[in-house]
Amino acid sequence: MENKKTAVIGGGASGLIAAYFAAENTRVTLFEKQKKIGRKILVTGNGRCNITNKNIDKSRYHGHNPEFTESIFSQFGLAETEKFFSSVGIPLIEENDGKLFPASLQASIVTKVFEYELTRRNVNVQLHRKIDKIIPENNKLRLITAGHDGEIFDSVILACGSRAFPAAGASTSGYELASALGHKIYEPFPVILPLNIPVKALHTLQGIKWDCGVKVLYNERCTASSMDELLFTAYGISGPAALKISRSVNEHILSGRIPDISLDFFPSLDEPDLKNLLNNLFIDKNRKLSFALLGILKEKMPEVILSLSGIDHEKRCGALSEKDREKILSSMKNFRITPGKPRGFEEAVAAAGGVAVDEINPATMESKLIKNLFITGELLDIDGDSGGFNLQFAWSTGAIAGMAQR
Ligand SMILES: Cc1cc2nc3c(=O)[nH]c(=O)nc-3n(C[C@H](O)[C@H](O)[C@H](O)COP(=O)(O)OP(=O)(O)OC[C@H]3O[C@@H](n4cnc5c(N)ncnc54)[C@H](O)[C@@H]3O)c2cc1C
Repeated sequence: MENKKTAVIGGGASGLIAAYFAAENTRVTLFEKQKKIGRKILVTGNGRCNITNKNIDKSRYHGHNPEFTESIFSQFGLAETEKFFSSVGIPLIEENDGKLFPASLQASIVTKVFEYELTRRNVNVQLHRKIDKIIPENNKLRLITAGHDGEIFDSVILACGSRAFPAAGASTSGYELASALGHKIYEPFPVILPLNIPVKALHTLQGIKWDCGVKVLYNERCTASSMDELLFTAYGISGPAALKISRSVNEHILSGRIPDISLDFFPSLDEPDLKNLLNNLFIDKNRKLSFALLGILKEKMPEVILSLSGIDHEKRCGALSEKDREKILSSMKNFRITPGKPRGFEEAVAAAGGVAVDEINPATMESKLIKNLFITGELLDIDGDSGGFNLQFAWSTGAIAGMAQR
């Protein structure tokens, strides 16, 4: 083995795979500020680790330059990821929507295998070591940690992750280290998280789950949509349908625009079919409207949806005018709510924003500003949809940076 020394800062998905590959040709030290490696990996996919997705494509990624992912995945994409995990003893199995998981359905196997493989490859893993500063010196890099002498490395892979989900140790450290070296940081914001809807009446639906078509509209232009389960909560909406549109909603709000959210409670029925269904429900002239609608909605939903749409839910079906019927139909297919202030990084699965990728060479992940500095993973200004896309970006960028060490 050659004497070149590589440091990896961050023992998350991206740093672990980077260390694995870098150890093929260099002496690697991995610095992790927490007491264990891979803490965020353990919470992924509800403890099952949705490692990647069969539908990896640049359209599933966001940021100021999502085209960056094209070059990344052409070097280390889905096939290479499946092959890598299989080679370390973690075959993947497919679930719905192309999601791939370890066959054991346990995230803990992923961190355990990395622990084993890094030991086997003589990677020096330093836990409880937070890197506070990176100082470039004659094309090498000196790493500074409180209480330790600075140590010089031939190259450094910065894989500190984003500030999403601090409960698993996420922080702003990576942005600070990159920014201190002159890198441009796009302001991070939380994505893939629940949404505040500041309408008290809606909060009474707390706990109700409903399969919905959801659209984000700004000036009536659709900027995101999803078709999935929505969960009403004490503050707004959650569940996969809400998480999937949260990026677009938060991006609008943080840019000073207030979008509308449109809910379609019957996405599998077109308007004429739903109209027929409603007309049948309204045949008994003496029934109250809210009672009649309990034939197709859950308890509480008719009162809340109708009153928020300005419809008298106490009205008898016999008293409904044609205009009333149109309004009811519209409240079922296009129920409008307005989101409030974004919720915090504490609940976010990922962060948008981060280090500008125009300053990174996608062939190696090397910084275009600082020689021998490599930047990978969620710290970069790329965020993926939920469903395995964020881990895939972390694996791919980490692997590319690791293989570039020689
Ligand atoms: C609840 C939850 C569920 C998720 N589920 C999925 C999923 O199923 N599929 C999917 O694709 N994505 C999922 N994600 C997103 C995915 O986990 C991240 O995109 C991915 O882990 C990012 O990898 P990373 O290596 O860039 O950063 P991280 O995994 O965050 O690793 C960064 C590491 O760097 C360390 N560090 C930071 N600063 C320093 C420093 N100065 N010195 C030393 N160490 C430092 C941190 O302690 C951390 O261990 C989930 C995220 C969350 C929060």
